Amino acid sequence: MAGVIGPRLYSCCNCRNEVAVHDDVISKTFQGGNGRAFLFSHAMNVVVGLKEDRQLMTGLHTVADVYCSDCREVLGWKYERAYEETQKYKEGKFILEKSKIVKENW
Ligand SMILES: [Zn+2]
Repeated sequence: MAGVIGPRLYSCCNCRNEVAVHDDVISKTFQGGNGRAFLFSHAMNVVVGLKEDRQLMTGLHTVADVYCSDCREVLGWKYERAYEETQKYKEGKFILEKSKIVKENW
């Protein structure tokens, strides 16, 4: 079907600001604070908060909250640093909670 359908996007549940593209999904099996969360290689139109060390199920990580750049809703977090060798692939990646994002152009 020829058309002008753009990339499949995820947007902020609050203000519909576009925050990530489907092609950047690395994993859909993460656990967020309130249910399922997706791991993305990139996020856009977001603000990254202060870094802090957090003990997660997979070990100690330095993480920062990620906010919508428009409405400041907390959408997830960014992995700044992983201390466990097996978790290093998450560094610089973004977690967005499934309950905080909505699909666009699907
Ligand atoms: Zn928003």
